[in-house]
Amino acid sequence: MNILVSSCLLGAACKYSGGDNACPALLAALAAGGHTPVPVCPEIYGGLPTPRPPAERRGARVVTAAGADVTAQYEKGAAIAVQLARAAGCRAAILKANSPSCGCGQIYDGSFAHRLVPGDGVAAAALREAGLAVYTEQDGPAWLAALPKEEAK
Ligand code: SF4
Repeated sequence: MNILVSSCLLGAACKYSGGDNACPALLAALAAGGHTPVPVCPEIYGGLPTPRPPAERRGARVVTAAGADVTAQYEKGAAIAVQLARAAGCRAAILKANSPSCGCGQIYDGSFAHRLVPGDGVAAAALREAGLAVYTEQDGPAWLAALPKEEAK
């Protein structure tokens, strides 16, 4: 089945610093299951450059450490991620943990002090709202085991 995956986990150098978050274990699990990853980088789709200033969610807004409001870019990228997921028929997503876009279940608290709090990144929340099951690479094989058996190839 097609599974939406954060592009940086697939090795794309799209993270804010210009690097990647390549996750060989995730790639191996996808290949072993016969699944097709559909890359998504909501921050790039939102029009942000790479590299770019780090940002964090602060309530309904997303801000950089310098105080720039980048909420509109994050929301645009989230909307495109949902469109892509629907177009590709994805019912699950594996997203980069802790990101203000892709984080699932916990994200940084907006203080830029490396404090994690419960919550989703903007794109993860939109994908969850759209009905996708969302996981992070830190969930290990849990996401694969949770896929409906009849849809696993
Ligand atoms: S927006 Fe998501 S896919 Fe893009 S670099 Fe950040 S964590 Fe990775």
